[in-house]
Amino acid sequence: MTGETAHQKVRAEHLKRNAYLYIRQSTIQQVFHNTESTRRQYDLRRRAVALGWTDDHIIVIDSDLGQSGASAKDREGFQRLVADVGMGKAGIVLGLEVSRLARNSSDWHRLLEICALTETLILDEDGLYDPGHFNDRLLLGMKGTMSEAELHMLRSRLRGGMLNKASRGELQVPLPVGLSYDVSGKVVLTPDSQVQEVLYTLFKTYERTGSASAVVKHFNKNALEFPRRIRGQINKGKTVWGPLMHTRVLHILHNPRYAGAFVYGRMKSHKNANGKTSVNALPMDQWHTIIPDAHPGYITWEQYNDNLKTLRACSQAYGKDRRNHPPGRGPALLQGLVVCGVCGQRMTLRYHGRNGILVPDYVCQRHGIEYGKPHCQHIPGGNVDKAIEQLLLELVKPVTLEVAFTVQMEVQQRLKEADKLRYQKVQRAQYQADLARERFMNIDPRNRLVADQLEADWNEKLRVLSQAREEYEQQHNLDKTKLDKQCREKIMSLVKNFPKVWNDPATTDQQRKRMVKLIIEDVTMKRTAKNVDLDIRLKGGAVHHMTVAIPLNAWQARKTKPEIIDEIDKLIDHFTDEEIAENLNRRGIKPSESEEFSRIIVSRLRRENNLKCRYERLRERGLLTADEMAKELNVASITIKIWRRHGLLKGYKYNDKGERLFELGPKEIMPVKSQGLKYKLSERTKYEELVSHATNEVQVE
Ligand SMILES: [Zn+2]
Repeated sequence: MTGETAHQKVRAEHLKRNAYLYIRQSTIQQVFHNTESTRRQYDLRRRAVALGWTDDHIIVIDSDLGQSGASAKDREGFQRLVADVGMGKAGIVLGLEVSRLARNSSDWHRLLEICALTETLILDEDGLYDPGHFNDRLLLGMKGTMSEAELHMLRSRLRGGMLNKASRGELQVPLPVGLSYDVSGKVVLTPDSQVQEVLYTLFKTYERTGSASAVVKHFNKNALEFPRRIRGQINKGKTVWGPLMHTRVLHILHNPRYAGAFVYGRMKSHKNANGKTSVNALPMDQWHTIIPDAHPGYITWEQYNDNLKTLRACSQAYGKDRRNHPPGRGPALLQGLVVCGVCGQRMTLRYHGRNGILVPDYVCQRHGIEYGKPHCQHIPGGNVDKAIEQLLLELVKPVTLEVAFTVQMEVQQRLKEADKLRYQKVQRAQYQADLARERFMNIDPRNRLVADQLEADWNEKLRVLSQAREEYEQQHNLDKTKLDKQCREKIMSLVKNFPKVWNDPATTDQQRKRMVKLIIEDVTMKRTAKNVDLDIRLKGGAVHHMTVAIPLNAWQARKTKPEIIDEIDKLIDHFTDEEIAENLNRRGIKPSESEEFSRIIVSRLRRENNLKCRYERLRERGLLTADEMAKELNVASITIKIWRRHGLLKGYKYNDKGERLFELGPKEIMPVKSQGLKYKLSERTKYEELVSHATNEVQVE
């Protein structure tokens, strides 16, 4: 653009409004080091004056110094500029390489649009533009696009270089504590034996206990401190010591670098619509680079993967609820301790009554309730509780305790190791104090100011030393008192009494459950076709595996033995249901442990086992109903019944209502109508009632 055209573009209405000078430096380093461009931006101000704006009409917006131009979000200055342009307050916007006002195309085009609408001019070092003019607008648009493309290229070039280096395992990334770069840039174990030993202790303790909390507890109990590397600007890379935290243990266990593997791309960050960045961990198969055995480590790659597996298994058992509930009233021993072996949720407890006793059921229903699906699994708990009880009585025995004491010896050994580590802390403090003393001794005493400082420093170091000594002594004495002979005897006597206490009727369910909670951490249950698989995790971390049979449900438990069914089958030939029940009861045969036979039970069993009913059997034998008989004998049905009552006909009960079927004999012995005129009914020959002769023969076996 030439000066002439520039002057033609500036009109009186532009000059009436203000000129906005927008100054931006993207990073704080640029603010400090790139004063050159800042100077160039202020030069623009003089050009605005040359174009006719007076000094007091030029507004400088530089509140975005130190902000990146990649998005307008969080850039107050840029947003103010857009707002003022939109309200028509600006006659001209001045900026160095004006397209860099916004390095994001959409921000830039928005500004252009608004400038065009409000007839605002744009000025950069290359010239003056009127966004209302098509040509100028095209040019400005191109500039914005180029600028964005440039940013993209820059970024991808940087990132590409980084990824290439990462693929070769050569990218230097900040290392976790315990690992360091040596002078040649190779990763080595931090050359500080105390740091190393503490890390080895952490991994060993985890391997032994399988629990991050147990690691923390171990460190706390032994007053062991853990190193942390400062990442900030001040004191960067320095190691400080402090108590070990649970999250720390988890981070360390998840960090593959401790297994000597080089990895890159474990996390992925992305921006959300609010412009905020969130970081997510990726699954291992999506990591950019994994190079096992790339450098020395504290554990092997296999160990690392094993640790991850245990961590995952444990995290499944982290149901929020019911875990730490105090024992409730019911008798179920495992209340609050049961984890579903299918989905890892905590299982809920239900009771159902059977013969006046509460029987527990363990149900995994959380998922089912939340997603409206059927229960994950349902385990009748009767047998489970019995098995747990037996296991406890077995575990808490003098014999097992002997084993425990042997383990205790090992613990003593570990205490010694811990003691050594703690003593190193004292030595470290001693060394620091010596150093401070030396520094103080070597200073020229006339240099009062420095001497005072060094003396104060020495005093402080001495204080730390005496504190470290004190702590060491305390813990040392504590360790010594652990499990002396007296203590052992006390434990032994408790153990001997355990079965007595457990079985004492005065012991409540709640007390029993409390005892269970002292010994058992949790129980994972999985139902198979006929059994329940139990993994019982004890407090110490040991796992007992057990399989118990699923107790029969009410119907199955009541299910009658097949021999009895056979017997009933035989009896139906001769008796009705009620008679069969009486017969069996008389002989002391029972359908289940608690019941006696009744008409209803016999008829249910008959139906359930598809036994032919008595009616059918009699019909098969050719017996006739009263109506059929009446037809045969050419009399009314009622007559048949009367004849039967008087013994003129044979009738067989086929049910307990007294309904019968009748036997049609040879014609000559059948009664005939009007016989009654000759003889009184009562005088006629009575048929013998058919009574079974089989009663004495049948035996149930
Ligand atoms: Zn489940």
